[in-house]
Amino acid sequence: MARYTGPACKLCRREGEKLFLKGERCFTPKCAFERRAYAPGEHGRSGSMRRGRESDYNRQLRAKQKARRVYGVLERQFRRYFSVALRRSGLTGLNLLQTLESRLDNVVFRMGLAPSRTAARQMVTHGHFMVNDRRTDIPSMLLREGDVLQVREGSRSSVLFKESFEDAENRPCALWLDRDLKNFTGRVLRLPERGEIDGNLDEQLIVEYYSR
Ligand code: SF4
Repeated sequence: MARYTGPACKLCRREGEKLFLKGERCFTPKCAFERRAYAPGEHGRSGSMRRGRESDYNRQLRAKQKARRVYGVLERQFRRYFSVALRRSGLTGLNLLQTLESRLDNVVFRMGLAPSRTAARQMVTHGHFMVNDRRTDIPSMLLREGDVLQVREGSRSSVLFKESFEDAENRPCALWLDRDLKNFTGRVLRLPERGEIDGNLDEQLIVEYYSR
């Protein structure tokens, strides 16, 4: 599955805010946004100063781009998620965010098993997980209520996993998920409510963007 492979910090600077794409580094003075809080490129500084004159279209576009970048999803797949959200009953914007949250890489991150979505994605693509007793290496796999996640037997003794699991105790697990670190398992209890998803995403603007 295709993914963005450029510098993550550039995306934060482009969006004009910290998107926390690099795990622990984002909370240290090494964070690129702390040092250069303006858009990348030749006109970055002057562009940041002009942001006050944003059009509706630009605000909608930025809201969509931000969500895409937070979840690490390319345009075509993001549009597909929007079509799925549109067909479901209920609020389209919330449906979209719930779909993004139910991605396997996001669930691993939200369970606290990885420091960032990027790290979670890598763990998944390396084949360290099983979902409902079946091995999978597809980060975009959508999980549903009741689905059980397990670290594969062979991965449990690997250095990477030992380190990650020691740290997992210090990371929170989302309320809509459950985890059992001793047994290397987790479960999706339900879909997240809006208040349990990042508050700085504006799903209404994303709906407006795709409804033009
Ligand atoms: Fe963004 Fe994290 Fe890079 Fe800071 S360190 S610019 S928050 S990805």
